[in-house]
Amino acid sequence: MKNNKVSERGGILNQVKKLKASGLYPYFNAVSSTQGATAVFGDKEVLMFGSNNYLGLSGDPRIQEAAKKAIDKYGTSCTGSRFLNGTIDLHLELENELKEFLNKEGVIIFPTGFQVNSGVIPAVADKNDFIFIDELDHASIIDGCRMSFARRVKFRHSDMADLDQKLANNGVSGDITKLIVTDGIFSMDGDIAQLDKITKLAKQHDAMVMVDCAHSIGVIGKNGSGTASHFNITDEVDLIGGTFSKSLASVGGFIAGSADMIEYLSHASRSYIFSASLPPSSTASALAALRIIRNDNSLQLKLWENTNYAIQLMNEAGLDIGNAESPIIPIYIRNSFTTFKIAKLLLDNGVYVNPVVAPGVKETDALLRFSLTALHTKEQIEYAIENIAKLVNKYC
Ligand code: PMP
Repeated sequence: MKNNKVSERGGILNQVKKLKASGLYPYFNAVSSTQGATAVFGDKEVLMFGSNNYLGLSGDPRIQEAAKKAIDKYGTSCTGSRFLNGTIDLHLELENELKEFLNKEGVIIFPTGFQVNSGVIPAVADKNDFIFIDELDHASIIDGCRMSFARRVKFRHSDMADLDQKLANNGVSGDITKLIVTDGIFSMDGDIAQLDKITKLAKQHDAMVMVDCAHSIGVIGKNGSGTASHFNITDEVDLIGGTFSKSLASVGGFIAGSADMIEYLSHASRSYIFSASLPPSSTASALAALRIIRNDNSLQLKLWENTNYAIQLMNEAGLDIGNAESPIIPIYIRNSFTTFKIAKLLLDNGVYVNPVVAPGVKETDALLRFSLTALHTKEQIEYAIENIAKLVNKYC
């Protein structure tokens, strides 16, 4: 029998070779500047509509200054896990301020958002338990499920009737854990999870709820405090996770929950205990960004002004943007090759967007991921959308 990984490797290498030969290969292009409304690829400055820098804080001088000060005081690394020698007072300050921001009893921070999902999920659900995930949940949630001995049950994207049925059909309440995990804003399609309905179903079926607010921190909720705040149901959500690598201009991640749950996770989550802690500069950057957004929602308002304007222009141009309702706007091309081609031609015209193709999404859902920041101007948005519409009309 053929080894699956050997044939998968062959398939991937083949596709990469073909794409490189066609001149459309879009990955690993080096950026040589900060990323704001524009970014420099090699020596070419382009409009940046493909980052996760929603509030435009990456590259903000106040945050850069905080990072430099932290390096001067603590050095460049904590040289160990939080559990042992790797905790510095900045970690505790960040956890305390996040706890207040998210309105939860406890928070711990992880070296990455990926490690939040891969470390928290297996610590919460074990053999005999059930994890219910939306079919469009992020890869790190899927890997978290793979690292747990619990059974994984996928429900159709944002389909509450399907979730209801799957919760009813799997496991008996009482002696087992049922954990529902969802993205707060879906990372590629940009729609907001129906967290209010999910928490209602959770109550009916005695399940726990975990939401990954990677793309909703800074974007929705009071001062950008995420999806649970957006629906005003913070108390009904057991675990709120997220990352510092998007709106918070840094790297790292967090999980928030009840005091007991967080105390437990800090002693049981393997990616938290057995990995070196968040470096001082990254911790200070996230803390500086958090302080900015807690005190001032003007960036969040500007982000939404830009988002609403872009959605309006795209609708007027007749682009297929599905149920776009956030700064992540999917422009469906529905064919991988055409998606690569348009992304490349856009880059030649000075506009960077992300091509998202199979197997990341279904072939018929291949899309250009267009994302806004608070820094874009109306003129930049108009220029980008005009170019996209021209190419889409020509090639689709
Ligand atoms: N969750 C979601 C929904 C994400 O989109 C991402 C990153 N793209 C992550 C988790 C992982 O976050 P990090 O980059 O901090 O590892």
